[in-house]
Amino acid sequence: MNRTPAPTPVVELRGATKSYPGGVHALRGVDLTVEQGELLAVVGPSGSGKSTMLHVMGTLDRPTTGTVRIAGHDVSRLSDARLSALRARHIGFVFQHFHLAAGRDAVDNVADGLLYAGVPPGERRTRAREALARVRLDHRYGHTPDALSGGEKQRVAIARAMVGNPALLLADEPTGALDTASGRIVMELLRELNAAGTTVCVITHDNEIAASLPRRVRFRDGGIVSDTRTAHRPGPRTEVAGP
Ligand code: ADP
Repeated sequence: MNRTPAPTPVVELRGATKSYPGGVHALRGVDLTVEQGELLAVVGPSGSGKSTMLHVMGTLDRPTTGTVRIAGHDVSRLSDARLSALRARHIGFVFQHFHLAAGRDAVDNVADGLLYAGVPPGERRTRAREALARVRLDHRYGHTPDALSGGEKQRVAIARAMVGNPALLLADEPTGALDTASGRIVMELLRELNAAGTTVCVITHDNEIAASLPRRVRFRDGGIVSDTRTAHRPGPRTEVAGP
């Protein structure tokens, strides 16, 4: 009898630690598996290691010890160049303070999300317009960040993160700098992307947001203290394409 093999997790951390000079142990042996199609919240007090873990999961930072696998690839075996390529293909990032380039319009900011994906410039801009339409900002193509509201800036940042169609979206306090209504729109967009197949991991201080997501990973002092799932998963689970 043939069995379908279990899909490769999008991210796997095994015994991941991260220490900084001066005896700061930001991560103390984290084990975490994120499967394709999940939507999870990472919660915990300030300084508990959430952002450090997101950076390690996103391969922006290497762990001090332990292993990180992205789509089955052991990150420690890859050169910096191959790691950048893996990151460009698999992972999108959204940050609390947007990190948009000042003086560049929304289309250019989003097109920058394809800079390392080997896409020609003209096509980058076409795809950027499509991504902006997906976050319902097709009326803001030519606006620079200073002409956009906070919520609109975050939607541009989400479009930039998604324009390369990554399997995994990592968001560090994406609603932290927004008013409640804009935050709600941003969360709706993240849910939509998840429903369309993207795995989404959100750091949040907002208990209401955390409680509304199907999985919650709670941090304290550099380690996971609880990992809970809501029995009923909202939204369909769609397989995403491989590398
Ligand atoms: P959180 O996201 O939960 O607020 P962080 O991951 O930012 O926590 O930080 C965890 C710990 O690691 C904190 O004590 C913080 O001061 C420390 N830390 C984070 N980044 C660095 C760094 N680059 N150098 C030194 N210490 C750091």
